[in-house]
Amino acid sequence: MIKEFFNHPLRELNSFHVEEQADHIIEFDSAEDLDQIFGKESSPKKWYALGGGNNILFTRRFEGTLIKPIGKTIRIIEEDEESVLLHVEAGLEWDDMVEWAVEHGLWGVENLSLIPGTIGASPVQNIGAYGAEAKDVIERVNFFDTQDCTHKSLSHEECRFAYRDSIFKRELKGLCIITSVEFRLKKTPQPNLGYGDLKAETEKRGGATLGNIRDAVCSIRRSKLPDPAELGNAGSFFKNPIVEHELAEQMRLKYENMPIYPTADTQKKKLAAGWLIDQCGLKGYRQGHVGVHERQALVLVNYGGANGDEVMTLAHEVCSKVAEKFGIDIEPEVNVL
Ligand SMILES: Cc1cc2nc3c(=O)[nH]c(=O)nc-3n(C[C@H](O)[C@H](O)[C@H](O)COP(=O)(O)OP(=O)(O)OC[C@H]3O[C@@H](n4cnc5c(N)ncnc54)[C@H](O)[C@@H]3O)c2cc1C
Repeated sequence: MIKEFFNHPLRELNSFHVEEQADHIIEFDSAEDLDQIFGKESSPKKWYALGGGNNILFTRRFEGTLIKPIGKTIRIIEEDEESVLLHVEAGLEWDDMVEWAVEHGLWGVENLSLIPGTIGASPVQNIGAYGAEAKDVIERVNFFDTQDCTHKSLSHEECRFAYRDSIFKRELKGLCIITSVEFRLKKTPQPNLGYGDLKAETEKRGGATLGNIRDAVCSIRRSKLPDPAELGNAGSFFKNPIVEHELAEQMRLKYENMPIYPTADTQKKKLAAGWLIDQCGLKGYRQGHVGVHERQALVLVNYGGANGDEVMTLAHEVCSKVAEKFGIDIEPEVNVL
């Protein structure tokens, strides 16, 4: 089933809640609906796949068609003694799948509780939190290729997952619409409590059951991050910058407490963008309708009534201050349209 909307406000379709509009939105239910949408002469020329809008900043009217999956079914397509393989449609909320898995005693996604967004977006940036990533459980991604209007699928290896990255952010960016994802979840306990205060929070609740881990993750996240339903935001606005090993070492000498993380490439190190912004004294900084969140400097917020340009003006100011103080360029992780 397809539903169309014209000249539609985007306020409720993006977690920043910026006041922009789209020329045209098409919601589709099943993967086959895309044959109908793209298989005719009037098929959308300029389009963009929209999930829950939790990682998108609209800075102007979207003059084209936003294509939004709304199919939400979860099916078990394979099962053995150790695991189940789930086929989940792209329009389901990620956290609804996590809740379903926990209720059914299935392990693998509990650390990813409460990440906002849809199943269809989860492979795009390989969502991750608390030492787990979507790639740990994704076996296959099914999508519609708008170049030749065919349905295709990629195995885990073919998706080329990396830290907040995949083929869908690179070679296939703007060319495909993910229609469903297949997840392999385990039946036996696999607690992964090595990250931050997760172990202590889980123990406080009586030990490492699926329910306790989910509860602990939700509670930690709620205490650290603003809820977009109450305060518009898109989670981490900036990427953590990757710098040469020598530069990271020079900075470590100057700033003793600066967090530095290893990367897969031993010659490169990852710095914490939030720490850099905080050191510029910007935590809690406010400019009109927008600001840097008071507890988490990586998060830009809309206090109400902001448009996308105001958020970008603040983002540019934050980038300039970090560049001025540290000589390091940080850039948005959020998709700016
Ligand atoms: C409060 C908050 C906390 C967050 N915490 C985390 C976190 O802990 N870890 C983390 O990794 N992320 C986090 N994020 C970012 C966000 O949750 C993820 O990026 C999520 O995957 C976005 O899902 P979405 O459905 O809203 O995607 P959208 O924002 O709608 O889209 C994001 C990108 O994916 C593409 N896309 C969406 N759906 C499809 C599809 N079906 N086919 C092809 N492309 C598609 C879009 O075109 C766009 O490029 C957070 C965001 C917020 C607001």
